[in-house]
Amino acid sequence: MSDHFTEALKRKYLPMELQEFGYKCYQCEISLEGKNWVYEHLDGNRKHNEYTNIALCCQSCNIKKANDFDMQIKATDLKQKREEASIKYVETPDAIEETSSERDVNKMLFPLTEQIISERINTDGHYPLKDALAEIPYIAQKRYGCGAEPTIRRYIKQHTSAVGPFEIVTDEKGIKLICRRMNN
Ligand SMILES: [Zn+2]
Repeated sequence: MSDHFTEALKRKYLPMELQEFGYKCYQCEISLEGKNWVYEHLDGNRKHNEYTNIALCCQSCNIKKANDFDMQIKATDLKQKREEASIKYVETPDAIEETSSERDVNKMLFPLTEQIISERINTDGHYPLKDALAEIPYIAQKRYGCGAEPTIRRYIKQHTSAVGPFEIVTDEKGIKLICRRMNN
């Protein structure tokens, strides 16, 4: 296992995390939709990138945990439980494809779309809509064998709706860009 928690590992783990826990913070169990969140290393060691040591965590809990003993206990307890049960985990996206119904897969595509947009905005400040519509269906197809462009377009529309975490703005060249919603 590499020391680095790579983008490839994140993309591999996300659907597994969603399948196991849903799209919520493992500490406070708040829905992560529209929230800033991180992949947390349960034992606090960023070099321990085994699946059982990674959980989705809201940014607020992630920051609090550094100084909160109870939260640290909860994290190490969860890690231990998962290690004990690890034989049950579905370890590859291929296997997920076989065991998930199409509805479950679609459930994963909604947060996957948000995650990809969020990561791109964190890196580049914005995400051209045209690129999102080309790249996200590709990633979804490769991962799940589904997630056609109209489906992803619908999810982008939902994520950029008035209550969504993002908005679409048009730059001076007339290019549509997905940005983080400012009043959020
Ligand atoms: Zn939380």
